[in-house]
Amino acid sequence: MLLEIKKYPDPILKKRAGEIKEITQEIKQLADDMIETMIKKDGVGLAGPQVGISKKIIAVQTENGPAVLINPRITKKWGKKILMEEGCLSLPDVWLKVKRAEGVEIEAVNLNNEKINIKTEGFLARIYQHETDHLRGILIIDKLNLWRKIKLKKKLKNRVVK
Ligand SMILES: [Zn+2]
Repeated sequence: MLLEIKKYPDPILKKRAGEIKEITQEIKQLADDMIETMIKKDGVGLAGPQVGISKKIIAVQTENGPAVLINPRITKKWGKKILMEEGCLSLPDVWLKVKRAEGVEIEAVNLNNEKINIKTEGFLARIYQHETDHLRGILIIDKLNLWRKIKLKKKLKNRVVK
């Protein structure tokens, strides 16, 4: 099922997502729907809050196809901070340069409730950092300095009013 994507400034995007205690049938269905939605919207990642579910679940496009992680947590970051342009399905038509660590290590649980550990670099590491930010209520516009943030928020507000 295609899910509706929550757009900025929906308050759910600012909330911290809650831990998932059990992989229920409902969570598995949500995982399927998130993958379907991510693919249809041409996204490379999608987090629970973006589809109105304030829970720690993310879908990502990996080199082996789409994957879903439950309760993901970045345990290590390394390498240079790299500045690269990013978009977000919750901020249509906004592209911002964001600094991210080159590599990350992530701890999570998969849909079979098995603990998994992922170590990755480059573009995928960037996606994981972007999506786990969503679980903490952080959007790419929150990465801007105050002045640029005020300017952009004004622009987005005008667009919503129109
Ligand atoms: Zn996003």
